[in-house]
Amino acid sequence: MSLLPQRVNRFVTTQKRVAITFDDGPDPRFTQPLLELLAQHNALATFFVRGSNVAAHPALAGRMQAAGHELGIHGWHHASLRWSTRCQVQQEIRRTRDALATCGVTKVDLFRPPYMRMGWGAVLEVAAQNLVLVGQSWKTHDYHAPSVEWLVKRVVSKTRPGDILIFHDGGGDRSLTLKALEQILPQLVEQGICFCTIHQMMAKKPTR
Ligand SMILES: [Zn+2]
Repeated sequence: MSLLPQRVNRFVTTQKRVAITFDDGPDPRFTQPLLELLAQHNALATFFVRGSNVAAHPALAGRMQAAGHELGIHGWHHASLRWSTRCQVQQEIRRTRDALATCGVTKVDLFRPPYMRMGWGAVLEVAAQNLVLVGQSWKTHDYHAPSVEWLVKRVVSKTRPGDILIFHDGGGDRSLTLKALEQILPQLVEQGICFCTIHQMMAKKPTR
């Protein structure tokens, strides 16, 4: 076993496949309409959930899994893991796993640290638990996009096969992200892009 966790930021693929991922949810204001939008476009996604939000809205996590989406861990309450001890990280992960298990989500092996920051305590614990670190190919900047149009144009023009993209369905007002996705998804589907989960993409060779 390596001391460093496996990490993926993009995939090498000859197929027009893209992994869209969502952080900070679930939040009933945005996650529920997002699930409906994804279904409309036959898009599967990966949700990196906050454990405390799962505990507050357990039905939503169950709905994600039932719809074929994948769930990964984004910490319990979104504390930075930069200076956390291994024991603290273990607790963050265990509490989130427990919350997910009560919703019937038991196979969880994907992790994304809050703010993408990890100190050695987190690195060692994530590796010991065999969790795969899921990064991003480039930043969508959805959480501080100046307008819907700006975000649509940025994402549609920059997306390439094999990309991993991060959007947010919680942690604040995500209505701009949702409105942009209403245009982004059909435009990329029109280009022949298929939206897949991280594990569907991992059948292909990952790169750093
Ligand atoms: Zn986050």
